[in-house]
Amino acid sequence: MSADTTTLSTSAAWADMADSVLSGQTLSRKAALSLLEADDDQLLAILDAAFRVRKTYFSNSVQLYYLKNAKSGLCAEDCGYCSQAKDSEAPIEKYSMLNAERLMDGARKAYESKARTYCIVASGRGPSDREVDHVCNVVRQIKNEYGLHICCCLGQLRPEQAAKLKEAGVNRVNHNLNTSERFHDQIVSTHSFKDRLETLDTCRDVGLELCAGMIVGLGETREDVVDVALKLAELGVASIPVNFLIPIEGAQLGRPVDLDPRYCLKVLAMFRLTNPRTELRIAGGREVNLRSMQAMGLYAANSMFVSDYLTTPGQQALEDFNMIRDLGFDITAGDHESAQLLQQIDQAHQVSQCSTEGKSSCCS
Ligand code: SF4
Repeated sequence: MSADTTTLSTSAAWADMADSVLSGQTLSRKAALSLLEADDDQLLAILDAAFRVRKTYFSNSVQLYYLKNAKSGLCAEDCGYCSQAKDSEAPIEKYSMLNAERLMDGARKAYESKARTYCIVASGRGPSDREVDHVCNVVRQIKNEYGLHICCCLGQLRPEQAAKLKEAGVNRVNHNLNTSERFHDQIVSTHSFKDRLETLDTCRDVGLELCAGMIVGLGETREDVVDVALKLAELGVASIPVNFLIPIEGAQLGRPVDLDPRYCLKVLAMFRLTNPRTELRIAGGREVNLRSMQAMGLYAANSMFVSDYLTTPGQQALEDFNMIRDLGFDITAGDHESAQLLQQIDQAHQVSQCSTEGKSSCCS
């Protein structure tokens, strides 16, 4: 059955939408689109509807992800949004696959940042067999030392490569749809939307969980955004990262885009209501595009990255911890880790209060 709420312009209508979703109905395309087209004065009611669904399936928990750019630049693909693409003139660091020590160092930082998942990301169309073997060896070591969940984003994978990753203990593979099937050719010409679906199928076939999301702000229509959300619901992915484009000077799509924080929040709410039980992550572009409204994104999403993105910096982990705590939410971690974390935050609060109030004595 499909939830097709009629005149969606009152708080009651958005609440009805949440009721329909919670009763197991699927959100219709029309209803999903209405979320993106709603007036800004509907935003709080929309977020409330999204939050009811989020709270039902994910309570107040927030999952943290830590990302390591394992191989940067040097890519022959032409994804227009990417600073690492072949035609990009963005001044980024370029390096081949990091050695085990550097990848282990990233795992340690992920662990210390309270991330539950360590994302190993490499540029390129797809990895060589040698690179896959290297990642597999490091993953085994990480599992032994830190027990982190591992998500690999290595581009297109052949079945035997995917099977090796699974066997080594990789939990999940990220391979974003990035945009709708209709719009895909406008942002990249060196591979197709179908190629992307094939990699997801390959990974599913060997038992890997799927992580796939999109980048909002590439010049797509609202209908395209809805199409991606519905496609991901159809694919039944485990995790959806929603990126908001950070225009990077030198990349093909490096010009500022017309995204405002209210629209970004409606996008997150729409993803929550179309994919109610799926982990939803506010990914790249959170700080730049949601700005002072970042915290509100967590009323729809239940996950986010800590620290930096691939080629752009994020805000400090402590600021993220404070934001989560200010919301009254909890970071998903073991009890011992949570207790330690709260202690760290309390100490940091104390220090910042002291310096604000000029009471240096209480910090000594
Ligand atoms: S998104 Fe990946 S495949 Fe596309 S240009 Fe960037 S690094 Fe290459």
